[in-house]
Amino acid sequence: MTTDTLKAVNSPNAIVIGGGPVGSYAALNLAKLGVKVTVFEEHPEIGLPSHCAGHISIRSLRRIGLYPLPNNIVENVFNTANFYSPRGTKFSIRLSQPVTVALDRARFDKNLADQAKAAGAQFVLNTCVQSIIKSNGFIKGVNVQQNNQRQEEVYSKITLDAEGVSSRLLKHAGLTALKSKGLVYAVEAEVENVTEIESNAVEVYFGKSYAPGFYAWLIPKLDGTAKVGLATNKGNPHEFLRSLMFKHPVASKQLSKAKITQIGYHAITLGGPISKTYANGFLACGDCASQVKPTTGGGVIFGLTCAKIAAQTAIEALQRDDVSANFLQIYQKRCSDLLRFDFNVMLRLRRFLDSLSDEKIDEMLRVCGKLGVDRALTEVDEIDFQGKMMLTVLGKPAMLAAVAYFAMLYLSANP
Ligand SMILES: Cc1cc2nc3c(=O)[nH]c(=O)nc-3n(C[C@H](O)[C@H](O)[C@H](O)COP(=O)(O)OP(=O)(O)OC[C@H]3O[C@@H](n4cnc5c(N)ncnc54)[C@H](O)[C@@H]3O)c2cc1C
Repeated sequence: MTTDTLKAVNSPNAIVIGGGPVGSYAALNLAKLGVKVTVFEEHPEIGLPSHCAGHISIRSLRRIGLYPLPNNIVENVFNTANFYSPRGTKFSIRLSQPVTVALDRARFDKNLADQAKAAGAQFVLNTCVQSIIKSNGFIKGVNVQQNNQRQEEVYSKITLDAEGVSSRLLKHAGLTALKSKGLVYAVEAEVENVTEIESNAVEVYFGKSYAPGFYAWLIPKLDGTAKVGLATNKGNPHEFLRSLMFKHPVASKQLSKAKITQIGYHAITLGGPISKTYANGFLACGDCASQVKPTTGGGVIFGLTCAKIAAQTAIEALQRDDVSANFLQIYQKRCSDLLRFDFNVMLRLRRFLDSLSDEKIDEMLRVCGKLGVDRALTEVDEIDFQGKMMLTVLGKPAMLAAVAYFAMLYLSANP
C-alpha cells in the first residue's frame, strides 16, 4: 500500500530511513520475503532532487538483476572513456563492447521504489526522520515529522538507515558519522549545446586546477544534451566548474556554446566503509555507511549490493527474534568479505591519484599511451570490483610495466 499520510502507518516490522536507491532496494528485498516495511522519505517525490551522474556498469546492474532497464531510464551506453590531463593530453580506453550506461537517476530511483511498493512496501513521503527511539540500549523505532506537523513515534523491530551522505542519524544510533576528511563536494549540471564529443564516450578531466582531490566529467546523452560535473576537496565547486568550462584546453571547446539548464550540489564520500555499520536493532547501508568506490565516487552498485545483504540479515534476525548487535554484526562481515579487497585497492589508488601534481598526471597519461595500456584493457568489462579487475589485467606486460611506472611515480611524489 502506498500512502502519504502518517496515520496509515501501522506497526511495521522494519523501518527504512530514506527512499534513495539503497533504501528502496532494501525495502524491495524485505517486502519480497513478506516483511512489513515502511520507508520514510523527507522529500515529496522519490528521486528528486537528483544529485547523481548515473554512470553505472552494465555488468554490475545485470549481476544485481536490474538490467536491462526500461528505455526511458537509459540515457546512453558507452564503450569509450577519454581521460585528459590539465594540459589537454588525451588517453583513451576503447572497449570492444558497451560496458557502462548513463541512467536518469530520478527515474531509476522511482522505478526501484515502484518495485518495492508492488512487493508490498509502504512509502511515506514528505516525512523526515528527526531522531531515533532508544530503549534499554536497543533502537526501537524513529521520531518522524510530516509537513512541519507534530512529531510522531513509529516503532519497529529493526531499522535500516539509508539516509545518504548526511549521516546525521548514524550518530543518534551511537555510530560514527562520516568524517569531513573523506568527503569531496560536487556540482552536477545538465547542459545543452555540447560540441566536439563522441556520443559513445565519457570524458574525464584530471588536475588540481579543475578538480583537486577528484576529477571532472562530461557524459553525453543520446538526446544531444549532457551532464557535466566535478568534485573537489577544497574551494568552491561552482568556481571550478567555471574554470573547467572557460579555461580547460579541451573542455572549454566542448562547452563553449553550452547552456546550463539545471544545476545541483552534493557531497560524495570517498573514505571507504565506516568502521561499524550495526547496532542493537539497527543497520546502516549505502552512502551513510560510505559504501562508495573511493576512486570514482560511484555508490549505486556497492550501496545496492550491501542493501540486499542488510535486508537478508534483517530477515534472519526477525526470524530468530534476535536483533542484537551481536547477531547483526554478521551483516558487516558479509559486506566486508565481498568488498574488503576491492576497497583496499581503491583506497590506495585514490591516495596515489591525490599525490600526483598536474605535471605528473600529464606524464602519466602520455606513458599509458606509449605502453599500450589502452590495448591491454580492451576486453575489460569489470569496473566496480577494481581490485579483482587489476588482478586479471596484471598478467598483461603493458599493465605490469604501467604498474611499475605508477609505483615509481607514487614513490617520487611521496619520498
Ligand atoms: C554529483 C554526484 C555524482 C554521482 N555520480 C555517480 C555515478 O555516476 N555513479 C554512481 O554509482 N554513483 C554516483 N554518485 C553517488 C550516488 O549518487 C550515491 O552513492 C547514491 O545515491 C547512494 O544512494 P543512497 O540511497 O545511499 O543515498 P541517497 O541517494 O542520497 O538517498 C538518501 C535518501 O534519504 C533521504 N533522507 C535523508 N535523510 C532523511 C531523513 N532524516 N528522513 C527521511 N529521509 C531522509 C534523502 O532525501 C534521500 O532521498 C554520485 C554522487 C554525486 C554527489
